[in-house]
Amino acid sequence: TYVVTDNCIRCKYMDCVEVCPVDCFYEGENMLVINPSECIDCGVCEPECPAEAILPDTESGLESWLELNAKYSAEW
Ligand code: SF4
Repeated sequence: TYVVTDNCIRCKYMDCVEVCPVDCFYEGENMLVINPSECIDCGVCEPECPAEAILPDTESGLESWLELNAKYSAEW
C-alpha cells in the first residue's frame, strides 16, 4: 500500500484523489489518508502529489503513518 505522510498536512491539492483508480483516499483530521486495504499499489498517485507526501510503505520508518492512514480511513 501507499501511505500519506506529514507533507500532506494542510495541503490544498487533491490531484491524488482524482487519479486514484479505486477511490481509496479519505479525509483525515487535517490531511488526506489512503485506506491500506483498498489501495491496489498502482503507484499512480505518488508522482501526482505536489507535496511529495505519498510514499510506498516499503520505505522504512513509516509505521506510525501507516497506522494513522488505516485509522482515519476506517472511520468512513
Ligand atoms: Fe490509489 Fe494507486 Fe495511490 Fe493506491 S497507489 S492510493 S490505488 S492511486
